[in-house]
Amino acid sequence: MIHRKLLKVLRVPPGSKVDLDDFDPGLDIHPELRAIDKDDLKALASEKLRENVAELAEAQELLYASDTYSLLIVLQAMDAAGKDGTIKHVMSGVNPQACQVFAFKKPSDEELDHNFLWRYMRALPERGRIGIFNRSYYEDVLVVKVHPELLDRQKLPPGKRDKAFWEKRYDDINRFERHLVRNGTVILKFFLNVSKGEQKRRFLERLENPEKHWKFSAADLAERDHWDQYRRAFEDCFTATSTKWAPWHIIPADYKWAARALVSGVISRAIQDLDLRFPELTPERKKALAQARRKLAAE
Ligand code: ATP
Ligand code: MG
Repeated sequence: MIHRKLLKVLRVPPGSKVDLDDFDPGLDIHPELRAIDKDDLKALASEKLRENVAELAEAQELLYASDTYSLLIVLQAMDAAGKDGTIKHVMSGVNPQACQVFAFKKPSDEELDHNFLWRYMRALPERGRIGIFNRSYYEDVLVVKVHPELLDRQKLPPGKRDKAFWEKRYDDINRFERHLVRNGTVILKFFLNVSKGEQKRRFLERLENPEKHWKFSAADLAERDHWDQYRRAFEDCFTATSTKWAPWHIIPADYKWAARALVSGVISRAIQDLDLRFPELTPERKKALAQARRKLAAE
């Protein structure tokens, strides 16, 4: 099945050196896709999204009932890559009670008074729940690396902000994630890989369509000027932090329908791979249930 094969090629192998030029933001991500017409592919993708969303809803109920694992979904991307829409569509079947989304913006003064992982730690999902980070601690090795002056606000002890400094941050992140995984958090990281041309098209749409004006921010355009620096920061980050325990997935994001089908596929597979079962009742619990049944029947 092509969907399965695709899910595999999206994953960044731990220890590999990432070059984003090797990852097409469009549909050229697997030779078998070339033979399929784009409209057919679109229809297949929306069918797959529907299936994945239904599977995810079931898997999430098991996750909740077994109360052992939690799932942390990390989303990173350039602006207008479709993070919000992906969250909305992929999670559309999930029970809102068992799910939480945090969007991380520029850190507050209070947050800057703590270590860089602090604000994210406080937002982690508890067992049984799915937590989504719309931006995450990775901003601290992405936007902050592209704009090192942001480090001045972080009130760190003195020291060089050289290559070794960033290597240590990656190391902190890897160890932090390993700690979480060992304690039952499944971590899935996604980079929505939008091309510079498609970002321009989406920005223009925001500028031209009055209903989309609210989405446009001049700051996004300023970040676009740093496109190449961001690419390098992303590449270094994926090279250093795609681990066996918390892999990165590079999702082609020029076609929203493709991105949504693929992200939902990875998430649904990951929960199913946990092979969860509804909890077995103890003999006492079974007895209590039988009693309750008799009592109600006798009313
Ligand atoms: P949207 O534009 O769709 O509402 P967004 O995630 O782009 O979503 P914005 O408020 O536009 O939200 O941008 C948030 C900004 O905060 C981004 O530019 C991001 O890089 C920045 N940011 C997030 N985390 C950090 C951090 N730890 N340090 C500095 N800047 C950060
Ligand atoms: Mg924004």
